[in-house]
Amino acid sequence: NVDWQGKHVTVAGLGVSGVPAARALHERGALVTVVNDGDDERSRAQAAELEALGITVRLGDGATLPESTELIVTAPGWKPDKPLFLAAAEADVPVWGDVELAWRLRGPGAAPWLAVTGTNGKTTTVRMLASILEAAGLRTAAVGNIGVSLLDAVLDDEAYDVLAVELSSYQLHWAPSLRAHSGAVLNLAPDHLDWHGSMAGYAADKGRIYEGNSVACVYNAQDGATEDLVREADVEEGCRAIGFTLGTPGPSQLGVVDGILVDRAFVANRQKQAQELAEVGDINPPAPHNIANALAAAALARAFGVQPAAVRDGLRAFHPDAHRIEHVADVAGVTYIDDSKATNTHAAEASLAAYEPIVWIAGGLAKGATFDELVTGAAKRLRGAVLMGADRALIREALARHAPEVPVVDLDRTDTGAMSAAVREAALLARPGDTVLLAPACASMDMFVNYNKRGEAFADAVRELADESA
Ligand code: ADP
Repeated sequence: NVDWQGKHVTVAGLGVSGVPAARALHERGALVTVVNDGDDERSRAQAAELEALGITVRLGDGATLPESTELIVTAPGWKPDKPLFLAAAEADVPVWGDVELAWRLRGPGAAPWLAVTGTNGKTTTVRMLASILEAAGLRTAAVGNIGVSLLDAVLDDEAYDVLAVELSSYQLHWAPSLRAHSGAVLNLAPDHLDWHGSMAGYAADKGRIYEGNSVACVYNAQDGATEDLVREADVEEGCRAIGFTLGTPGPSQLGVVDGILVDRAFVANRQKQAQELAEVGDINPPAPHNIANALAAAALARAFGVQPAAVRDGLRAFHPDAHRIEHVADVAGVTYIDDSKATNTHAAEASLAAYEPIVWIAGGLAKGATFDELVTGAAKRLRGAVLMGADRALIREALARHAPEVPVVDLDRTDTGAMSAAVREAALLARPGDTVLLAPACASMDMFVNYNKRGEAFADAVRELADESA
């Protein structure tokens, strides 16, 4: 346990993690200085709030290490090669992220963590897990980038039996001493490589979730890279590697047999080969990637001792968050699906695999991605494609290379109104029985404030269409 009294702590970055971190440290007697790159209106408001408590804030200067700093607590998004961290390394000053801080501030009676990471599906899985734990009568919360903040959850010591924790690769990078009860890596595909420096660096940071696990390391048996990470991890004695697969499970795995989710890892009755957990139809939506998410959530819950009936009830009670393969409406026999949260190619691949035939609406900011693999995999399912956004040419060219027969409408637009035009073009391409799928495979910031706004624009346009055809 750290003695915070009089300790010089520098908090790097205001915002959702920095402000509560600064407060919590200040309350414990630390001498807190916050450094922040930006000096905008929002930062100034946050700074004023902290300064009123007696906390020092330096706006517009996130690079200089304040003198006498003994510890840095950083916002997870700050890149490791920033000058502040180079200076810290030179001066032997440790750097913690928001997760490390939360982990260290946990009280002695604090709830264990069931932790989830992966390139895609984190939020969904953590919410499914919380729903299952609730169905089991446990006091829990889905925390991380969602809902209750992790720090609030750990400081409210007595309130929870167990936490379902979403962890990003950034957060894991800055959380050296985190030791979860059990952890899961859902999948690994290239993302955020500019931040982590390389795929190997990204994978290694994700793999930290397994370090020191006490009961189970849950991996994706159909994604060998996740199993490699388990092998490399240093875990507590007796901790088991548990796989999940969309196929028939092997021993120590959960999987699917004849539309039933089955567990061959945590079988209480030794006479029994497998324990039935739920039906695929209990999962909303029952698309392959989402069944994988459900299996991962079930594995973590089972590792915590949750009974099969609670897994089923929890999955039935689960409803997906907005803009994640969300059904918007059926118009003239065509189904409209909003997967605006598919902000990278790996995510878009999942929703493109779930429907057929598809009129695909895509485009935005590619973040350095290539689209050949995505387009090749989806080509047979595509009725047509409607493209918009800054990097649409990359998708158009990939389509021309791998699916020249697919009709493409290139909207040549990056204004917000383009979404309404895209939906109209898609409706013209679609035939009854088709699905119009917004799965941009790109970030939204070239056209919209965020993926929520992009999804809302899509839903508005679909509703307009529905009104007209009514
Ligand atoms: P995250 O929190 O990791 O961003 P979400 O649960 O919010 O993940 O889902 C983001 C998007 O990723 C979804 O809209 C869907 O397109 C896709 N997705 C969800 N689960 C998976 C999965 N297991 N594999 C691949 N893609 C997925």
